[in-house]
Amino acid sequence: MMERIYLDYAATAPMRPEVIEAMRAPEDCANPSSLHAEGRRARTIVDDARARIAAILRCKPSEIVFTSGGTEADNFAIAGAARAGRARGRHIVASAIEHHAVLRTLDALRDEGAEVTLVGVDANGVIDPNIFAAALRSDTVAASVMYANNEIGTIQPVRALADAAHARKVPFVCDAVQAAGALPLDTGALGVDALALSAHKFGGPKGIGALYVRDGTPLSPLIHGGGQERGRRSGTENVAAIAGFAMALELAERERDAYCRATASLRDRLEAALAKSLPDARINGKTAPRLPNVSSITLPGIPVEPLLIALDLEGIAASAGSACATGSLEPSHVIAALYGRAAGTAATLRFSLGRSTTAAEIDRLAAILPRLAALQREGTATPV
Ligand code: PLP
Repeated sequence: MMERIYLDYAATAPMRPEVIEAMRAPEDCANPSSLHAEGRRARTIVDDARARIAAILRCKPSEIVFTSGGTEADNFAIAGAARAGRARGRHIVASAIEHHAVLRTLDALRDEGAEVTLVGVDANGVIDPNIFAAALRSDTVAASVMYANNEIGTIQPVRALADAAHARKVPFVCDAVQAAGALPLDTGALGVDALALSAHKFGGPKGIGALYVRDGTPLSPLIHGGGQERGRRSGTENVAAIAGFAMALELAERERDAYCRATASLRDRLEAALAKSLPDARINGKTAPRLPNVSSITLPGIPVEPLLIALDLEGIAASAGSACATGSLEPSHVIAALYGRAAGTAATLRFSLGRSTTAAEIDRLAAILPRLAALQREGTATPV
């Protein structure tokens, strides 16, 4: 049987064996809010994981709020800041290339009366701190810019943006979901007030994430109930997933340098090969600071979906700009922010590499893609 090649780590990374092992111990444990010994054991597991995650984020354990994932962490940060700041104003600033977890939250807040300014990016997918600063107003109650983009991998100048926000006394929210495992997460050095993480992007379980909330940052809770997480996120803690999250983050942090070197070298190998075999291919964000493991490639004149299906039939799992953009004939909001919507038909493929990606896999992709692209250009949908 043909070996599959998984190049969609930015969508999710497989759980690591050590993580599965770490999740076994708490499987049968009690409710961490219970006072009995079994409950106290569960509480210890949660507290221990929180402390280990805080050590990597260089923050206090009490500044970590566990959530159901990156989406909830983003919703909580932005809606929480907007609602907590309502007496001061209703204006929010964000980048135009945020994940839908942010953009759709902003849509919902608009329905509650918020006014939103989306700041564009340059043709490399990077926001200019001066343009961002100019968008902040005296009634701005939150600003949100992601650390690294999920479609094209570009890295934003977070520290400069956070400083600009603080100069206007605006809390700064950062979606670090794609950055974790590849970039430093020192919250003090980044200068952020809130930072969103999701465990399944770096080998942890799906359905668990966290929001770092700097002490003193006012955030209205999104979820109400039993008062867990110091009243900031009610609901019985997902003890096993929290233990897996801490293990995955520790492993990712320990291996970060080696991981970055290995994936960047494979990404460069892919891009160098495609530059020769597909000379009209455009590598998005190529000269910007970007994640080592993401390569976003636009092929003009080709619809994206048949190409993805053809790749899948050849055993290669990749995605369009992002999972959400699949099925749409329009460029994604990220590609549109880079080049405008008038780009015409073009397939933007995202290849995202991971710990297990090999040079042989990259070489196989580099050999197959030009042939599939040619077939699509000729209007032949089925690969031979
Ligand atoms: N933010 C970014 C940048 C992402 O890439 C994702 C997931 O694709 C999310 C947020 C949402 O995270 P989750 O899948 O944990 O809800």
